[in-house]
Amino acid sequence: MNTMRIDWHAKARDLALPRQAFIDGRYVDAISGATMPCISPIDGRIIATVASCDSADVDAAVRSARSAFEDGRWRNQNPAERKRVLLAVADQMEAHAEELALMETLDMGKPISDALSIDVASSIATLRWFAECIDKVYDEIAPTPQNSLALITREPVGVVGAVVPWNFPLMMAMWKLAPALAAGNSVILKPAEQSPLSALRLAGLFAEGGLPGGVLNVVPGLGPTAGKAIGLHMDIDAVGFTGSTEVGRLFLQYSGQSNMKRVGLECGGKSPHIIHADCPDLDRAAQAANSAIFFNQGEICNAGSRLLVDRRIAEPFMEKLMQVARTKAAGDPLDPATSIGALVEERHMQRVLDYIQIGKGEGAKLLLGGQRTRSNSGGFYVEPTIFDAVTPRMTIAQEEIFGPVLSVLYFDTPEQALQIANDTMYGLAAAVWTGSIDTAIRSSRALRAGMVYVNCYDVDDLTVPFGGFKQSGMGRDKSLHALEKYTELKTTWIALSP
Ligand code: NAD
Repeated sequence: MNTMRIDWHAKARDLALPRQAFIDGRYVDAISGATMPCISPIDGRIIATVASCDSADVDAAVRSARSAFEDGRWRNQNPAERKRVLLAVADQMEAHAEELALMETLDMGKPISDALSIDVASSIATLRWFAECIDKVYDEIAPTPQNSLALITREPVGVVGAVVPWNFPLMMAMWKLAPALAAGNSVILKPAEQSPLSALRLAGLFAEGGLPGGVLNVVPGLGPTAGKAIGLHMDIDAVGFTGSTEVGRLFLQYSGQSNMKRVGLECGGKSPHIIHADCPDLDRAAQAANSAIFFNQGEICNAGSRLLVDRRIAEPFMEKLMQVARTKAAGDPLDPATSIGALVEERHMQRVLDYIQIGKGEGAKLLLGGQRTRSNSGGFYVEPTIFDAVTPRMTIAQEEIFGPVLSVLYFDTPEQALQIANDTMYGLAAAVWTGSIDTAIRSSRALRAGMVYVNCYDVDDLTVPFGGFKQSGMGRDKSLHALEKYTELKTTWIALSP
């Protein structure tokens, strides 16, 4: 079907939104009866009232997940059977793709075209990829002496807490759920309070696909309440967290204060995008530099938010950059032609606007945007914004803004570019545009980042790991490496008769 022809506003009016938590295989209210409003950033209206879970609900979810794990109803199924169920769930998701995409757009304001073709499509692909891999990964036999046999096997870690953010609600959830469930764990998923809808709907789709009750529980709720209860729970074995570096640090504390649960962290970034004077294609680089910051309204952890340009090509490159940037504008997220939507909530919009004020105050030159826009809609939109003449220690060169705000810095030598690039507490992604294989390889070795893009930005595939160095986190999502977070390594040493 041509999605450009769909009347998404009409569909949105007819959409039934989930409101309850999903615990022990069924939808339930929070034990306390508490609820929280779901405000759509598209127009600032309350679109649903959703259960707001606290530690009592997390306890109930953990009890259910633990008993599912202990009785082996999921983990003891043959890998091929787990694969069959997860593939059936992926089919369910495909059948409900438009509904899931619409929930994503209503909840957090991203363009409906992206929600459908990127968020939902990639979430389904992620589930299929991990479902398909789980009956194809092998364990190891160690080269021990002849009188013994040592098996090195991977086992599910047990009960996993997944705490995820609002910028890609479904996709971030699936980056945790797919490997954790494929490996045989039970999971408690806590979506961000700003975007619980798709996770709640997903729980029902997993059940319809045949996942046994108790294996997946979804507890919507506030971070300092439900999120903290997961972090501190004595019977959760591992947490997979995606979100801010600040809250990532809290999860490390929670672990130390409770049962030393394993913690995997995917946190923030301030990724450098370096354009060398020998860039082979300035037009393509200018396009990429725009998408790197304006895709998903800049609410993306690996946004190329610091653009580092060789001073010798400053003029021609900036002209091309601005030419593309002037074509960008925030629009109605439910219009399939829109490529920049609303920011997730009013508070976050204000935070982005505050950073713009700080940039001006610290002496950066505003080249484009800088204002709230579309305020008549009642929603939370900020213009695509570009600052020139940013220096490395300015706040807007150091802190993650998580909005459509680009900081442009200049360098004189490749060494200086690398020095500036590495000069933040983050290390998620980095990019280098150069025609020299030497510069490409030397830069990619020197850049302290989990992902380095050469002559491209934010290219991606399920086969490669995603995650960062330094305070951008620890552990990796996607690829077979993701399984490491959700499995324990066991050695079984068998002595043979002498
Ligand atoms: P956030 O850290 O505020 O929230 C993330 C999750 O943690 C939410 O579910 C929230 O409810 C929960 N939480 C908040 N406070 C908590 C507390 N005190 N205790 C326990 N849980 C708590 O992040 P956000 O604003 O939702 O998302 C934006 C951040 O996510 C950005 O920093 C972005 O870079 C990061 N992010 C990283 C990646 C990655 O893969 N590296 C991907 C997407 C987003």
